[in-house]
Amino acid sequence: MSGARIGVDKNRTRFVLEMSDKVKFSIFTLADPNRIVIDIDEVDWKIGPGGADGKGVIERYRYGLFKPGTSRIVLDLQYPVKVDKSFFLPPKKKYPYRFVVDLKRTDQKDFSSTIRKPRQMTLASRPPQPVVESARIGRTKKLIVLDPGHGGHDPGNLGKNGSSKFPEKTVALTAARAIKKELERTGRYEVILTRTRDIYVKHRARSHVAHAHQADLFISVHCDAIDDSRVRGATVYTLSEKASDREAAALAARENKSDIIAGMDLEAEPDEVQGILIELLQRETMNLSSSFATELVGQLKNATLLRTRPHRTASLLVLKGLDVPSVLLELGYLTNRKDAALLMQRETQQKIGRSIVKAVDRYFQKNFASN
Ligand SMILES: [Zn+2]
Repeated sequence: MSGARIGVDKNRTRFVLEMSDKVKFSIFTLADPNRIVIDIDEVDWKIGPGGADGKGVIERYRYGLFKPGTSRIVLDLQYPVKVDKSFFLPPKKKYPYRFVVDLKRTDQKDFSSTIRKPRQMTLASRPPQPVVESARIGRTKKLIVLDPGHGGHDPGNLGKNGSSKFPEKTVALTAARAIKKELERTGRYEVILTRTRDIYVKHRARSHVAHAHQADLFISVHCDAIDDSRVRGATVYTLSEKASDREAAALAARENKSDIIAGMDLEAEPDEVQGILIELLQRETMNLSSSFATELVGQLKNATLLRTRPHRTASLLVLKGLDVPSVLLELGYLTNRKDAALLMQRETQQKIGRSIVKAVDRYFQKNFASN
C-alpha cells in the first residue's frame, strides 16, 4: 500500500487506499467506540504502519499487520455510518490500484444492526480449564491483580497547563505500587501487578494475567481527565455494555482507544455453543464486581474525594471477557491541580491503599465467608 487519503463531499466520506495490486478484502463494523474494520490480504505498507487524523465521518484511521496473511485498517468514526459502496478502481495515469470505501452517515440503531459477531473466542473469555484451576491449589492467600493503566508509548491522560507534572501512566503505576504494599502488609493477600515498569501492555494481556492465575480480584488503576479543571474525585467503574451516562461512554472511548491503536485486534466474543456457559459465569462475575465496587466506594470516601454517583458502568475493554470479579478505579482528575498533586503524594496513596484493603476485606467476608 502506498498511500491513503480521505475525500469529503456533502453527504459522503470516501476513504481511498492506493495499492500496487488488487487484494481480497472484507469489511465489518464494531461499536463502543464505533469503528469500521477493513481486512485485506497482507500487504507491504510503503508508508509504514501507523495512523493519521481523519476527515468527514472518520475521526482517525490506523493500519498495520493484523496477523500473518492479513493486514487491517481501522477507521474510528465520529458518527454511526453505513458502508455505501466498496470497490477497486483499476490503475489510471499516475494512480495505481485504488481501494475505495464510501461511507454515509446513519443512526446508531442502523449502525449497530450491521455489527458482525466475531467468530473466534479469546483466551480470556474461555471458561476455566482444569489446567488453570490448578493455579488455585496450594494457595493460602487471596490473589489480587492490580493493573496500572497505560504505559510505554501510551501515556494515558495528561494534565492541562501544568496541572499535573506526571502523565496517567506514571501516577497509576506509583499508586498501584503503594496499594500493593498495603494489601501485602496484611499478610492475607498476594498481589501481582500487570506491569512493574513503564511498558505498554495490551488490554487483553492485562486481563489474561488475572485469568491465568485465577485471581480473586482484578483492579485496574487509572486517572481521569476532563475539560473542566474544577472537576475532582475518584470513580469506580464496572463493566456494562451500556454506559451509565455520557461521561462514562466518553471515558470508555478514551480508555479503550490505546489498545485498538497498538493492538488493532478485535474484541472477540464467545461463539454460540459456549455462549450460555460464559454468560452464566459472567453474570456471577458481574454481580461480584458490583459487590466489590459498592465496598470500594464505601471505604474510599474516607481516603479521598469521590465524584457524585461514584459507581458507574461503562464498556471497558480491560474488564471484558474476564472471569475474575473486576473494577476499574479512576483515582481522580489529572486536569485538576489539587487531585494531580494529591495523587502523587505517598500519604494519599497509602490512605487509598488502606481503604482498598478494608474494601477487599469486607468484600471477601460478605461473599465468601464460608471459605
Ligand atoms: Zn486510563
